[in-house]
Amino acid sequence: MQMEGNSRVNGEWNEVEMEFRDRIIKCIDCGEEFIWTAGEQIFFRDKGLQNPPKRCKPCKQAKNERIAAIMAAQAEGVRRRVEVPVVCAQCGQATTVPFYPWQGRPVYCRSCFLAHKSAEQS
Ligand SMILES: [Zn+2]
Ligand SMILES: [Zn+2]
Repeated sequence: MQMEGNSRVNGEWNEVEMEFRDRIIKCIDCGEEFIWTAGEQIFFRDKGLQNPPKRCKPCKQAKNERIAAIMAAQAEGVRRRVEVPVVCAQCGQATTVPFYPWQGRPVYCRSCFLAHKSAEQS
């Protein structure tokens, strides 16, 4: 029995999609088996990801949250730690500022900075 001309094309296309079947993967964190669906495999392929997921969804989310918490803590720590030693352009006093001054830009100690600010405003 011959099929219609274009059914072969559809057949080939289906074959490509058939590479993706639901797969069962064991989570490396909790040891539970989870299903890596064909849809997710296609998503992975579209993203150019080579390796299958290692974790079930809850563990993956927990891991992402852990990383996010660490990143947030680091960002917070960096923000607090910034203390750049400078010499005030006005009075010559050694001081620190909570930011990295631009090169060639005068940096003032707190009192000179405030004096400048109020002078500008008046
Ligand atoms: Zn898990
Ligand atoms: Zn000063």
